[in-house]
Amino acid sequence: MSFATLGLSDPIVRSVTEQGYLTPTPIQEKAIPVVLAGKNVIAAAQTGTGKTASFVLPILQKLIDAPAVRAKRVHAIILTPTRELAIQVEENVQHYARHLDISSMAMYGGVDIEPQKQRLIEGVDILVATPGRLLDMQTRRAIHFDETRILVIDEADRMLDMGFISDINKIVEKLPSERQNLLFSATLSEQVRFLARTAVTDAVEISI
Ligand code: AMP
Repeated sequence: MSFATLGLSDPIVRSVTEQGYLTPTPIQEKAIPVVLAGKNVIAAAQTGTGKTASFVLPILQKLIDAPAVRAKRVHAIILTPTRELAIQVEENVQHYARHLDISSMAMYGGVDIEPQKQRLIEGVDILVATPGRLLDMQTRRAIHFDETRILVIDEADRMLDMGFISDINKIVEKLPSERQNLLFSATLSEQVRFLARTAVTDAVEISI
């Protein structure tokens, strides 16, 4: 199995190869075709399995395949539990998008909000955010979700442990209802499944 046979096009395959990855990991083999097919996904995958690329790569492919009428208007939102993870995931997006005209941003709390507002105005296709700051931004009407078509909830079990359930639910309520939802979690506990029932309906379940 290669990245190309999973349905990823040349500029994406090239960026992956340049990172030194020659073959997809099991979670990538299973998740990438399902995400490309537009389905909702609930996946049990630990950190270290290559799970980040398993959602970032098909999201990039979808943005290439269906160029938005209005570019750079937050087409995909990836929610992460911590600032560190937001930064790390966004760095991954940058690496994988290096041959594409797709821009990304990491947004998190504990820092001045103004530069982040400015960055949004300049245009962002893929936003990686912690829930609290994203909600704050939305409350200030500094972000618009009208073009958002993909939501990823990364490390859902940690999100719940950290008490982000109500923030996530508030964000989900504000998003357009016609969207694709992906949830990744180290474990699919009953609490994670409960969150999935409201945010990620009719999902294909993947485990490795
Ligand atoms: P993650 O599970 O997303 O935190 O990724 C774990 C590590 O695996 C990261 O350092 C990635 O850069 C790396 N990685 C992701 N995909 C592959 C792959 N197909 N082959 C080898 N390494 C990979």
